[in-house]
Amino acid sequence: MEKYIQLKNETFMPRLGMGTWFLGENPHTRESEKEALRTGIEAGMCLIDTAEMYGDGLSEQLIGQVIREYHRQSLFVVSKVLPNNAGRKRIKKSLDHTLKLLRTDYLDMYLLHWPGSIPLEETVMCMEEFVTEGKIRAWGVSNFDTDEMKKLMDVPNGDRCAVNQVLYHLGSRGIEYDLLPWQEKHQIPVMAYCPLAQAGSLRNDIINNKKLMCIAKKHGITVMQLMLAFVLHRESVIAIPRSKKKEHVLENAKVWDITLDKEDMEIINIEFPAPNRKIPLDIV
Ligand code: NDP
Repeated sequence: MEKYIQLKNETFMPRLGMGTWFLGENPHTRESEKEALRTGIEAGMCLIDTAEMYGDGLSEQLIGQVIREYHRQSLFVVSKVLPNNAGRKRIKKSLDHTLKLLRTDYLDMYLLHWPGSIPLEETVMCMEEFVTEGKIRAWGVSNFDTDEMKKLMDVPNGDRCAVNQVLYHLGSRGIEYDLLPWQEKHQIPVMAYCPLAQAGSLRNDIINNKKLMCIAKKHGITVMQLMLAFVLHRESVIAIPRSKKKEHVLENAKVWDITLDKEDMEIINIEFPAPNRKIPLDIV
């Protein structure tokens, strides 16, 4: 599997990174969470995904304390602006605050967290200005379904959108019907969030599935690693699993060694089929 994907702006983005939702919020676990992030970076997961929304800046602050220990150019840092802040009046303040908390002077990728009421033209114009100023290297969106992506393409410079970050995991394959092929056609990679199905009943259905357990056993991996290998099997997909535990981070970083074969995919397709009709985008 390729470890990097080439973006439209010719730069390369790692295909496996670390999510950070909820990280930094509990003062008692901050140190172990920092250790988990360091472990991930040192194991090659140099893409870090955060957002101004996470812990109201606490996640960005935690990441800032860790990434200052590394060469900035060796990392790929992604953050997101809230839709209400994505207009000319507020976006600069948001980005400056994000950069301050992250202790850096640029982001590798800045995303609009979900579609909001501020005209896309305005957000795109601001994003492009940040690129020109060197404050961000690229920009993208999140939680945009196919129709919203098509509208974005109609906005001046909307086609410079580098990624769309959406929910995608083995048990939620709605994007495979239209959004994922559409993005592949337009060279806009999918950043898969919740690649481990986060929590809840669906995750239990996946991790307790006997057939998946057999595939995992065959490869000498866990079902969680199988879930990651599944999303990365598609070469236009980037995955950002989140873990506050070093041992889990190390497991996640080893996913490159796993190659799912035709037989594995056939079993997965029977147990957790992709839909054969349009399903609205799944969100958390
Ligand atoms: P994930 O699907 O990544 O699941 C996280 C859970 O999986 C945690 O409970 C973690 O527990 C557990 N876990 C991680 N690795 C392992 C492992 N190897 N073995 C067993 N358990 C494991 O959930 P998220 O919702 O956090 O999604 C990932 C990231 O995507 C977010 O952190 C965030 O950065 C982004 N995101 C973006 C959204 C958007 O709207 N754009 C929405 C939601 C998420 P433990 O810590 O104990 O390991």
